[in-house]
Amino acid sequence: MSERITGIAASDGIGIAKAYRLVQPDLTFEKKTVDDTEHEITRVKRALQASSNDVQAIRDSAEKSLGKKEAEIFDAHLAILADPEMVSQITDTIKQKKINAEEALFEVTDNFAKTLQAMEDNPYMQERATDVKDVSKRVLSHLLNKPLPNPALIHEPVIVVAHDLTPSDTAQMNRKYVKGFLVDLGGRTSHSAIMSRTLEIPAVVGSEKATQVVKNDDEVILNGLDGFAVVAPDDQEQQQYAAEAQHFEQERAEWRKLRNQPSVSADGQHFEVAANIGTPNDVTAATSAGAEAVGLFRTEFLYMNSDELPTEDAQFEAYKRVLEAMKGKPVVIRTMDIGGDKHLPYLPLPEEMNPFLGYRAIRISLDRQEIFRTQLRALLRASHYGQLRIMFPMIATLDEFRSAKQIFTEEKQKLIDQGTAVADDIKLGIMVEIPATAAFADQFAKEVDFFSIGTNDLIQYTFAADRGNDRVSYLYQPYNPALLRMINRVISAAHKEGKTAAMCGEMAGDKVAVPLLMAMGLDEYSMSATSILRVRSQMKHLNVADLKKLLPEILENCKTNAEVKQLVEQKVNI
Ligand code: PEP
Ligand code: MG
Repeated sequence: MSERITGIAASDGIGIAKAYRLVQPDLTFEKKTVDDTEHEITRVKRALQASSNDVQAIRDSAEKSLGKKEAEIFDAHLAILADPEMVSQITDTIKQKKINAEEALFEVTDNFAKTLQAMEDNPYMQERATDVKDVSKRVLSHLLNKPLPNPALIHEPVIVVAHDLTPSDTAQMNRKYVKGFLVDLGGRTSHSAIMSRTLEIPAVVGSEKATQVVKNDDEVILNGLDGFAVVAPDDQEQQQYAAEAQHFEQERAEWRKLRNQPSVSADGQHFEVAANIGTPNDVTAATSAGAEAVGLFRTEFLYMNSDELPTEDAQFEAYKRVLEAMKGKPVVIRTMDIGGDKHLPYLPLPEEMNPFLGYRAIRISLDRQEIFRTQLRALLRASHYGQLRIMFPMIATLDEFRSAKQIFTEEKQKLIDQGTAVADDIKLGIMVEIPATAAFADQFAKEVDFFSIGTNDLIQYTFAADRGNDRVSYLYQPYNPALLRMINRVISAAHKEGKTAAMCGEMAGDKVAVPLLMAMGLDEYSMSATSILRVRSQMKHLNVADLKKLLPEILENCKTNAEVKQLVEQKVNI
């Protein structure tokens, strides 16, 4: 019998394939005494051989997808597996102590790792201790017959089932074979959900029990449109969802025809539909989806995909690439938004009780000014190659914006004094993602050049509900009138001062929210590249004058998120 697992629809599309559990197995074991030591020695030798085969395959695959240097780590693993000293110590321990292979492996490798770790004057050897532990874990997994997951080795279509996915796990997935993600944790705006949309991989997150229910190789239908999965589907379900997947693909093909058209409502009003990107590579998906701008470049991914702070030149190259690829269309680059759920291994941040409310984004930039100034210099130098706009994240007070602007102005002047070409029309804007900033939008609008409403954070702070926590995901309420009123006021405040209002949170691509935002006059909608054509198609069918008539009823009479949704679904053809 098939089983249904419900969760949160996090990335559009339907995938059907066998499950691949990206879950670390439980490798606990008991120490036993044995009579047949030869049998234990044979077992350990087999496990060593199987581990070598694994590592060799991972090594080859890493070399192809990541490069020679990244593959070198696996050479170290292969050398450990073949180390005659270690192998003979394990077999001797089995013979002398008459213990099982698992215990002998543990005792010997633990000893090796401890010896290496003690070499305080040799950091290279100390690091090898981690390799020994990794290798030992792999051999143990073979002894216990509980294989470790190897995402790099996926070579057939799969639905990846995981307890949690970090952004870096998600980034390593091969789009060709990964047909969907089914994840226990996470909300619609957690960063792994956002990455899965960028990669165009259907995803269901916050499923709570997927890893308890789904076994390796179970057939799974993953419905990222409606937020559920069916495990071991029957023939009828297989046919139904294969047809729906096909229908979705046809719809996508229709949308693709709008690639080179502007985003215009049925009554002729133009809006800008833009792309959110995380790396310069994403710009290809943005341009091929017909993005009219880059509305948000989350630059922190440049920092996260590096082993050290990216240099000014490396950043300059990345920003220049995006500006050139957009051929004079606007590119909004947000300064680094580290902290919260985004960490840099080389920039340890203090442990905090509430990282989302802590030391992050502009707060770090204003504190660690050398990092901020390097980024601003790279941006200023790149400004020459396109239409750059700079945006500051997590602005809570006017003072923060003024300080950031002051530092920007100083760096600009220094570059001009050196004779470096810098554009003189760089607009400076802020993310509106903190309720205090939304409440004070009329004053901010006098000083900034543009707003971009970051609803992912604005909703989490307004409803005091962690965006990554599926237990409180019911409080992700983009249609709640309390939030809609706030957004409406922010847009009006911008317009009153002749400034533009954009939105770059996930709500900008939400089919129920889009008609409301059009009625409020939101100028720019920035979203995952995969949503652009769907939204453009939706806008084409909507009449702004009609939507404006509906707005007062929504803002004044509706009381709940559900009421607004229902009213929009009834009155608007979405
Ligand atoms: C937001 O908060 O809405 C936003 C776009 O920024 P991020 O998702 O990167 O926090
Ligand atoms: Mg944010």
